[in-house]
Amino acid sequence: MTDEDGNGYTDYVGSWGPLIAGHRHPSVVAALEEALAKGTSFGAPTAAEITLAELVIERIPGVERVRFVNSGTEATMSALRLARAATGRDRIVKFAGCYHGHSDGLLVRAGSGATTLGTPDSPGVPAAWAKLTYVADFNDLATVREAFEAHPGEIAAVIVEPVAGNMGVVPPKDGFLQGLRDLCDEQGALLIFDEVMTGFRVKRGGAAERFGTKPHLYCFGKVIGGGLPVGAYAGPAELMDQISPRGPVYQAGTLSGNPLAMAAGIATLRLLDESAYETLEELGRRLEEGLLRSAAPGAIHVQRVGSMVTLFFQGGPVHSYEDALKSDVKRFGLFHGAMLQRGQYLPPSQFEAWFLSLAHTPKLVDDTITAARESLAIALA
Ligand SMILES: *Cc1c(COP(=O)(O)O)cnc(C)c1O
Repeated sequence: MTDEDGNGYTDYVGSWGPLIAGHRHPSVVAALEEALAKGTSFGAPTAAEITLAELVIERIPGVERVRFVNSGTEATMSALRLARAATGRDRIVKFAGCYHGHSDGLLVRAGSGATTLGTPDSPGVPAAWAKLTYVADFNDLATVREAFEAHPGEIAAVIVEPVAGNMGVVPPKDGFLQGLRDLCDEQGALLIFDEVMTGFRVKRGGAAERFGTKPHLYCFGKVIGGGLPVGAYAGPAELMDQISPRGPVYQAGTLSGNPLAMAAGIATLRLLDESAYETLEELGRRLEEGLLRSAAPGAIHVQRVGSMVTLFFQGGPVHSYEDALKSDVKRFGLFHGAMLQRGQYLPPSQFEAWFLSLAHTPKLVDDTITAARESLAIALA
């Protein structure tokens, strides 16, 4: 990536996740040019929507219907509306430090920029609305059980990032995701995996495949649009057919399923075969091991799932939001500045994931590790 002043960087932000194929991948550019020549928007479905939906259905277990929207925020907001309608209940459970976009009911103890900027509970969200959101602790099933005990028969859905990425990368503990599924089944609530970050990134079938637990509904974004604005929510016909126009749950979008966005998504997913995931896994492992070797044991901690990586300025392990907040953000700031000076473009927050892409190479990763060794010496001094 080159900035406005002509400085070159190795990019680990990847537009916050979508650019799993790197910038301007020739296949994505060609698909966009072909779509552009036909027209930018028709306000009617095109074949490309069907093609992308079929690619999703083929990869994700249990998905029979896909509804496209324009962002991850829209996807989670709409999936929750569907869950509330399907269960006839109003309350939801989310986890501290998980970010699900900026819709009102989800900006409660939110991660990502809201945590970085010190506003995990955003002003402007009506208290009456936030009250319907119960906040549990990631990787702690007991706190979810408490939610169901506190509000029996009132919880519509549990929404979770199956790998938390918005408080830094925090993998689910063994049994956590399946425990959520079992609790939801027992309590008549729906489990929603927000795979906006993990979808098509951590494995062909996302986190659901990687960790072997299926939710009732999925949300997608980022990679599914290949760098253009796309989100989607998806699930079995029985639930998804309750959405308008087949069912009564209203949701619409002027530019949803936009042909340019669909073209970029299709081209990107087609690049992501098994060997692409092996490449991403191998690059991730190389980066993780190199970073760990770059500082004294215990000075830093690295957590990784596939091509999502976070270097925490603490000894770790990090299992929850509370754990993540123990990181030394001052040292992170020094590290980030030093890395930037060495041509390494990292997310400017301790509470974000670094993303590897198919455009990274072992050589680029090794250069990043060398820069990290120098930068850590500065940050930890
Ligand atoms: C980025 C993100 C969102 C929000 O997606 P936008 O396209 O930015 O609205 C929702 N959930 C998760 C897990 C995300 O990482």
